Amino acid sequence: MSVTPPDAPKDCPRCRRLVAYREENARAHPDWFNGAAPSFGDPNARLLVVGLAPGRMGANRTGRPFTGDYAGELLYGTLKKFGFATGEYRADPNDGFTLVGAMITNAVRCAPPENKPTPEEIKTCRPFLNARIAALPKLKVIVALGSIAHESVLRTHGMKPTDSKFAHGAETALLNGPTLVSSYHCSRYNTQTRRLTTEMFETLFARAKELAI
Ligand code: SF4
Repeated sequence: MSVTPPDAPKDCPRCRRLVAYREENARAHPDWFNGAAPSFGDPNARLLVVGLAPGRMGANRTGRPFTGDYAGELLYGTLKKFGFATGEYRADPNDGFTLVGAMITNAVRCAPPENKPTPEEIKTCRPFLNARIAALPKLKVIVALGSIAHESVLRTHGMKPTDSKFAHGAETALLNGPTLVSSYHCSRYNTQTRRLTTEMFETLFARAKELAI
């Protein structure tokens, strides 16, 4: 029986539409990463941050989650503020920025057109999320960014969306697992409309840190 690895191969073939989008981006920008983005961080992580999917200009371009797009500025700055990172984040996978006790991954590993994966793509990629979580023996808390990440994490633990509704700041005890803390996604749209403020995000990570210790 084959075992799903925690990170998909860069050329994972499972989602036809996303493969086509990767290939389209590779033709237009052959110098970009254009593949299934691997997780980034500490294998001894006590905190796992789960995003939606790589941004076309973010991880799809640079190969490191949240690196090079707007959402990464707030996320990496916040992780550093709460002691989960060292170094200077410079939006470049070679910037030496290092996560300490934390890891970042995505519910869907390939960039979807318009940042919108289909339900089938989310389901198809879930075995990698399952494997990612299972490979973190010290994991205490998962921060899910947005409702899709929230639902996908619930399902990795055999739970349904009706078992725990998404809300910013909601905490869920996952079955036989860590605590799930859910957050609005730190996207440009959410921060510019002030649906998510820096203060809200930092309050949530302060709580995540308490749970991680
Ligand atoms: S989204 Fe996930 S399952 Fe689909 S092709 Fe990419 S890595 Fe494979």
